[in-house]
Amino acid sequence: MHGFLRGAVLAVIALTAGSWVGLGRPSREADLRAMFGPTTAAVAPPATNRGAAADLPPSPLERDPTLLPDRGSPMAALNPERSIARGWMVAEGPRHEPGDNRRLVTLTFDDGPGAKTTPAVLRLLRRHKVKATFFVIGSYLEGESGRAETARTTLRRVAAAGHLVGNHTHDHVRLTSVSRTQVLEQIDRSAAAIERTLGRRPTLFRPPYGALDAFGEAAVRERGLDLVLWSVEKDDMKRDDEANMFHELVAQLDYKEGGIVLLHDVRMSSVNVLERLLGWIEARRWDPKRPERVGYEIVDLPTYLRAVQAAPLPYASRDELERARAERAEKKRPQSARREDGPGEG
Ligand SMILES: [Zn+2]
Repeated sequence: MHGFLRGAVLAVIALTAGSWVGLGRPSREADLRAMFGPTTAAVAPPATNRGAAADLPPSPLERDPTLLPDRGSPMAALNPERSIARGWMVAEGPRHEPGDNRRLVTLTFDDGPGAKTTPAVLRLLRRHKVKATFFVIGSYLEGESGRAETARTTLRRVAAAGHLVGNHTHDHVRLTSVSRTQVLEQIDRSAAAIERTLGRRPTLFRPPYGALDAFGEAAVRERGLDLVLWSVEKDDMKRDDEANMFHELVAQLDYKEGGIVLLHDVRMSSVNVLERLLGWIEARRWDPKRPERVGYEIVDLPTYLRAVQAAPLPYASRDELERARAERAEKKRPQSARREDGPGEG
């Protein structure tokens, strides 16, 4: 029965979609509008959330008009199709010429807001004067419960501190495993919940598990969202071995020459890993007076993306990129082996 209903719903959607059933490119913008329908922006916010949101000024980052996808945002320019494949490449960061030792890092936090953990992350970011991006789950912000009220207050603190807030779907579902109707609902309901909380609609989107098919890509594009993925993570949602996670993260940063770091602001172990990571980067901060030394700089997401825009990696795919990195690591090896052999060698 369930399967039949699902099939019937899909058939109706397919009929509505007209020429766009085969997941090819839609022929006209009007077809797309008909397919996706209006966004839920016009839905009136429930009385509970009104008021507080309207008073919150946009963060300095959000006042930057180039952040809006339709006004030349670096992400929209780098990935106009909102393709997942391209999104992964963009996340890998800018190209480094030989001898360029400046490494850019930008921090992202998913699956919040968390009542205790997100404020702990905010304290660390403030101490290190870092601006980050938070991809939040819309359903946490909805309802009358004390928990929901705390989540809304926490998210307002995130935005008020100048961090960017993005959409991470309403219920954290894998968008490749649900119906097309649900894909749109997951994006729109979360966007509406964030808008009710902050007084403005998010422009950044990160699909749970980085999973998005052609329909999802088209939905993200049509909703005017920028697709943001990541390049450095160590499964911190499933692990508690903080020391190992920290060492593996910095090994990745070294190997990948910086990157978009993904952590989850809902686990204390992740907060502890973040504290170590920030200390490690602080001690290796990029110093333009010592360009021969590899140095890291934590930047906000727009700055990271502009650097990618200025010097994109010259690879068609991540496989190609990984082959180039493996070759580079191979070339480096004899040098470090010589160093370990002590003075007198090489
Ligand atoms: Zn997630």
